[in-house]
Amino acid sequence: MTPMSSAEAPRLVVLAGPTAVGKGTISAYVRTHFPQVWLSVSMTTRPKRPGEVDGVHYHFVAEQEFQRLIDAGEFLEYAQVHGRAYYGTPRGPVERALASGRPALLEIDLQGARQIRETMPEALFVFLEPPSWDELVRRLVGRGTETEEERTVRLETAKRELAAASEFDVVITNDDVRRASEELVSLMSSRPSAQS
Ligand code: 5GP
Repeated sequence: MTPMSSAEAPRLVVLAGPTAVGKGTISAYVRTHFPQVWLSVSMTTRPKRPGEVDGVHYHFVAEQEFQRLIDAGEFLEYAQVHGRAYYGTPRGPVERALASGRPALLEIDLQGARQIRETMPEALFVFLEPPSWDELVRRLVGRGTETEEERTVRLETAKRELAAASEFDVVITNDDVRRASEELVSLMSSRPSAQS
């Protein structure tokens, strides 16, 4: 591995992990407490949930528009998540953030992380894991925003996704939102040698 200098391009960090592990909560914490970090706003075809703001949490678009953007090559990655809605990372804003010198954070699902691994292998891949399986189930049920059928699909997805931790450069345990967020942000401003 070659030593890296601080003069290098800022870091792109990809945060993934099983459903309901708290990626969204970590992103929200980073957005509020670490304004130096640029957060990608994904596009999605799923309906807006109460409290979500278009352009802040997601860009909410119709499937036809999403398909147009796929065809135009406008996504860095995209995926159909839980066999339902489509989610994608708009390419331009990420490239502009990195070019302007800001570290950038993508909070995406595992399929998306694997696509970025192919196209941008220099990114740092971070897996957020729950403190335990029981805790993950508790969080998923506790959120109460999904139907019983959706929950079953999500738990099946989560089980498969948990097994993917070894594909990642770093694993962070989401035992405490503040602690986990600080660990994540510290990775964005340093280049640990564990990454060889
Ligand atoms: P939710 O609908 O609960 O906000 O998110 C569902 C899942 O979609 C989460 O696992 C989240 O990480 C993932 N997701 C959000 N944005 C993107 C994206 O741009 N690309 C991909 N591949 N997954 C995303």
